Amino acid sequence: MAISNIRSQILGISELSEATVRRRHCVSLPETQAMRIAVLTSGGDSPGMNAAVRAVVRTGLGLGAEVFGVYEGLQGLVNDIIKPMTWEAVGGILQKGGTVLGTARSKEFRTPEGRRKAVLHLVQHGIDRLVVVGGDGSLTGALILHQEWQAHLKSLVSDGLLTQESAEAHPQVTIVGLPGSIDNDQVGSDATIGSDTALHRVVEAIDCIFSTAASHQRSFVIEVMGRNCGYLAVASALASGAEWVLIPECPLSPGWQQRMTKALARGRAAGRRASIVVVAEGARDSDGKPVTAALVRQTLEDELGEDARVTILGHVQRGGSPSAFDRILGTHLGSVAAEAALQRSGETNFVGLVGGRAKIEPLASAIERTQAVSGGIALGNEVATMKMRGGSFHKIFQVMETLVKASPKVSAVGEHSKRIAVIHGGSPAPGMNMAVRAAVRLLMERGHEVFGVKGGFRGLKQGEIEQLGWMSVSGWSSLGGAELGCHRDALQSRDLYQAARCLEENKIDGLLMIGGWRGYESVHTMMESAQDFPAFDIPMICLPASIDNNLPGSEFSIGADTALNSIVEAVDKIKRSAVAARRVFIVQVMGYQCGYLALMGGLATGAERVYLHEFGITAQKLLDDLHGLAEGFDRGKHLGLVIRNEKANHFYTTDFISDLFEEESRGRFDVRKSILGHLQQGGTPTPFDRIQAVRMAAQCVDYLEEEGAEAAFLGFEQNEYRIYPMDQFHRMSEREHLRPKKQWWLEAYRQLTLKMSSPTVLGG
Ligand code: ADP
Repeated sequence: MAISNIRSQILGISELSEATVRRRHCVSLPETQAMRIAVLTSGGDSPGMNAAVRAVVRTGLGLGAEVFGVYEGLQGLVNDIIKPMTWEAVGGILQKGGTVLGTARSKEFRTPEGRRKAVLHLVQHGIDRLVVVGGDGSLTGALILHQEWQAHLKSLVSDGLLTQESAEAHPQVTIVGLPGSIDNDQVGSDATIGSDTALHRVVEAIDCIFSTAASHQRSFVIEVMGRNCGYLAVASALASGAEWVLIPECPLSPGWQQRMTKALARGRAAGRRASIVVVAEGARDSDGKPVTAALVRQTLEDELGEDARVTILGHVQRGGSPSAFDRILGTHLGSVAAEAALQRSGETNFVGLVGGRAKIEPLASAIERTQAVSGGIALGNEVATMKMRGGSFHKIFQVMETLVKASPKVSAVGEHSKRIAVIHGGSPAPGMNMAVRAAVRLLMERGHEVFGVKGGFRGLKQGEIEQLGWMSVSGWSSLGGAELGCHRDALQSRDLYQAARCLEENKIDGLLMIGGWRGYESVHTMMESAQDFPAFDIPMICLPASIDNNLPGSEFSIGADTALNSIVEAVDKIKRSAVAARRVFIVQVMGYQCGYLALMGGLATGAERVYLHEFGITAQKLLDDLHGLAEGFDRGKHLGLVIRNEKANHFYTTDFISDLFEEESRGRFDVRKSILGHLQQGGTPTPFDRIQAVRMAAQCVDYLEEEGAEAAFLGFEQNEYRIYPMDQFHRMSEREHLRPKKQWWLEAYRQLTLKMSSPTVLGG
């Protein structure tokens, strides 16, 4: 009897081991055995391309295919720089910026002769399946290669460069395109691989510039990349709290200078110490004339007499280690692309991210739609281009416009004005301050008065509440933590009287709760007590903010992206500390009983094993993993990484697992444990969390103004916002585990983690 069978009998474990899941996955596709697939990166490099390459290689190998890497982009096809890839060859590349395969602009590939060489080399290697990660140009080139394939085969055979048999063995080429670009300019994908990292770089830079600009009361004009797409400009302006943004999609109509300077002057009059204008490099006026950073600077000087400075961010935006999102996006799309390339023979497809899910569509249609947008910009067709960019870009732009227009109104308070209180519930989450800032300003713009409750629900019962002004939230965009203060405790029945009095005394007629589980519980309790305490019979809305990402109805709560990036940065450093040692790290992350941070953190850092409460830990699993790791180290492995959610199992603690692995490794490796702790809660909010905070705050403000609004919470699924009545909170939750019943990421990303895990570790 196999050892594992004996073990499961002793331990009474019937659950499928992960190795079995993986073997089953491989067995189901035996026909792919002899297939050969190649992957290349082309055009401008972008962070996250390596994750895509790694995923194509590992998924392809996992499906039994032979995988090749093409170096130096499409030029590598022309010059025959095509090499077999192994599992290990793509180890340790997730955290690297740029592309390990190299990229190039290839003039030769633009010619039929260049592409004929590409066909020759591919067929000589027995490859007829290609995954291309690149921008619009690269994908167009790949599509043309597909169209010309047979003609080139014919001519290569007639010229005696290929045999008839080898041509017949590869009658067609299969192409899968992935969006690799920092501009986020590909239609058919909500995000391109690299755009989130570029946004990180831009926002980091603007944060730095803001602090110096504020010290000197200066104006700064910042030029960001984006010839045809204003995504980076709009998203960075929104995330950093910049005051004005100029993008190619909205050609500037006459008078734009005056409109801009008037808005900036209003901001200064309201007390702002610095003004930031973000200009996309492709910005232009309605006559098609470029609007450069220098022109904007001159305008500020002329019209406002401001001491304005220009910063052109340039290639900094392309560089650096990929963000957690780009690593996961590259991995996700790369894996789906490899499967599509092996299963959809002869087709040309594009894999994008739509509403958080991978979506496959014909390559020609993705390219056509993207080119239609660029064409629209050239024609100055603003309405068409903004709509065609897809939901998310358009929506971000709308919110940005609202916020830019929002300004402190003198005596705007009138008979329809409401007195809205903002409160936090639960632990701090990065991005909370941004949500408060946006809510305060949007509410004030509409003539309402806003009050901040200090110290969460404990503060409410103690009457700690004060009015917030336009400038009291100034500079909050980039602040981590929670300026209003939080408290972990939920509202208890004994506190209800005092809490109700506080609301009554301050004549509060609407409540915005920005926070996590305890905040939701508190609002739920208030809703249920509204009959006894009429002060609670007011519109109340919960905005999901928790690093644990454990709130029902919302795929992303504010703070989770920042926490994930904090984990990724910390684990990158931890891994680098072990260059010479043979070591396994056991890293414990937060999340309470929700495994989101552990699973996504594991995917983004290349962990071999992830332990979550949702999947459980068994003695059998631990032994399997230990033996897999030991086998890996026997074959030359140097580093192992295991990520464990803090509540994955009551008995198999991080200490227990570390001791077990250390003792049983019998000297093959040593074990170090690392408990990441509160660094996960305290980060500077990422651009995604800031933008999400603003967009969610805008939704909540709308709801609070609605006729008949009651107690509710905000949901966000597949890019759509939705309001749920508060009584759905318990129905949609697993209350004993403080997590939602539906965890959209669980199964899909579990499978992906398995595909990326080393076969030796899995014992397969
Ligand atoms: P990106 O892929 O980032 O849009 P480019 O537009 O520079 O970058 O394209 C990258 C490469 O793709 C080019 O250097 C060229 O080799 C190839 N390419 C682009 N457009 C075409 C085309 N119309 N026909 C053939 N190859 C093309």
